Amino acid sequence: MDTGGFRCIECNEEAAELHRDYRNGILKLTICEFCQKPVDRYIEYDPVIILIDVILCKTQAFRHILFNTSLNIHWKLCVFCLLCEAYFRWSLLQGSEQSSDPADIIRYTKEWDFYGMFGLAALELWAFCSGVLWFLWVAVGALQGEKLDFRLLLRALLLSCYGKVLLIPAVIWEHDYTPLCLGLIKLLVLTSNSQAIRVILNSSRRLSLMAVCVGLLAEACVVQACEKLPLSIQDFLTFE
Ligand SMILES: [Zn+2]
Repeated sequence: MDTGGFRCIECNEEAAELHRDYRNGILKLTICEFCQKPVDRYIEYDPVIILIDVILCKTQAFRHILFNTSLNIHWKLCVFCLLCEAYFRWSLLQGSEQSSDPADIIRYTKEWDFYGMFGLAALELWAFCSGVLWFLWVAVGALQGEKLDFRLLLRALLLSCYGKVLLIPAVIWEHDYTPLCLGLIKLLVLTSNSQAIRVILNSSRRLSLMAVCVGLLAEACVVQACEKLPLSIQDFLTFE
């Protein structure tokens, strides 16, 4: 059977097509031969509804995005999320350094601080993704003998980091509940990461949660290593 690379969003079985065109503007959703439900009902939904379902971490919405669309914005989204995170950290740094010196050299240094924060955020993301992929390679690839598609997994991980975009409004509309908002954003990102892994591998929730925990551990190790370096990356960039 020619599968066409699509998946049924209800039962995860492969499907040849999402809809059939009967001409004269008549389109009919394909019915899955395994579960007898529409293969992908989201293709006729409004993008806002799909986004709401993605935020609610619905498995069907994740399957629609990851298998049945050719959404290839993961690298752009990744850079944008890193910029959001760098801006957030940089704004915290500015908040802690109350300097009224208007000299240009200060502004120049602050700009380098931003690049330093961007580099750190990128390094932490790299450590997180490497940790997750390494764990999956060991747990699923080596132990269970299944073949892993790392490109698909990386795309899923990067796309599911979309929640970091919310850091910008959290910084702009700063209030007493900002720390709570930051915690919720982190929780949303990690839950989405876990759900994305679960959907791609069609695995148990426990495995995907363990993969995310290993990723977090790798990220924490990199943070510790950066803090303990005799010449931290920030200082290095500042003295350039
Ligand atoms: Zn089905």
